[in-house]
Amino acid sequence: MPITYNYSCSPNLDYQRDDNGELEKTHSKSCDFKIIDNGPHIYLKIDGKEIGLDQHDFVKNAEDLSKKPFKELVESEMIVYKKDELCLNCLSFKEECNCDDKNLVRLKELEGMMCPKCKKGKIIKTRIGIS
Ligand SMILES: [Zn+2]
Ligand SMILES: [Zn+2]
Repeated sequence: MPITYNYSCSPNLDYQRDDNGELEKTHSKSCDFKIIDNGPHIYLKIDGKEIGLDQHDFVKNAEDLSKKPFKELVESEMIVYKKDELCLNCLSFKEECNCDDKNLVRLKELEGMMCPKCKKGKIIKTRIGIS
């Protein structure tokens, strides 16, 4: 059962000087950056088909389906990753990115990063459900 995560921009604490020159804390507004990660990202290529694997137990899942050891599947390039990397320049997945100068990060690396959209917020990861 896949768990769905959301990566979104969170408001950041800013400091501003008020009229008296005192520092005051303000929350900058978060932007609408949001990536929904609902997997699967790992696929097994077998008999000309690509089968999405269980994100959490993909090794066993792949071995059960192919009857081969996982190591052998990797070596023969039967394991493929998809929509697991995001381009920070155009904010689309690697598969859909047309940038000459790609700036790719793994989805799981987004957590805690500076928001690539507003460059102010920080990316937080939230779990939005199990289906
Ligand atoms: Zn791009
Ligand atoms: Zn943002």
